[in-house]
Amino acid sequence: MKKEQYLGVSVSPLTYDQIITDMKTRIQRGEQSTVIAVNPEKVMTARRDPLVKDLINNSTYQIADGVGMIIAAKLKKGELKERVTGVDMMGRILQMAAAENLGVFFYGAKEATVKKAKENLEATIPGLRVVGYENGYVKDQNALLEKIQTSGAQIIFVALGSPRQELWIRENMPKLPEVKVLQGVGGSFDVYSG
Ligand code: UDP
Repeated sequence: MKKEQYLGVSVSPLTYDQIITDMKTRIQRGEQSTVIAVNPEKVMTARRDPLVKDLINNSTYQIADGVGMIIAAKLKKGELKERVTGVDMMGRILQMAAAENLGVFFYGAKEATVKKAKENLEATIPGLRVVGYENGYVKDQNALLEKIQTSGAQIIFVALGSPRQELWIRENMPKLPEVKVLQGVGGSFDVYSG
């Protein structure tokens, strides 16, 4: 898959539509995909923190979330043309989930926030099935994994802040083989709960 390098950090120069098309193909093949948002701050963090660099570069899609990435792309005459924000990418994946009848799980943020985000999104996206959710402050990780597995979710959004959410995804993805798409979404549940 096409990538561009920004100070050693990979970025996908793809539009929302291109990512969704590619993601659907990967789901059909039974492959798992991860989405990570990259902005100039994360690129700078990755320069001094090999773990963050590794988390970014080993994701399936590194979306250019931040106008700073587009400015950098212009300077180096890259193919990256427009921002792909984490919150809008989540919206597009939710629309795909509704169209393809894939169950979605929300993990992270405060209880009232994640619950309201689920309610708002189910009210605005016809056919969307949020099959489970959990706040980001639960302690029992085994119970959480069981809850995700029994929900039948095939897509998970994780909002624990960065890089905690990406670490969680990397650690738990192999334990959740039925989950095909995992995105770290930072403050997106807060946005959708408003
Ligand atoms: N959060 C959480 N558990 C934690 C720490 C944070 O669920 O232990 C949630 C927090 O409630 C917020 C989100 O993670 O909803 C972090 O959002 P923030 O905007 O700080 O993340 P960023 O996008 O800056 O990485």
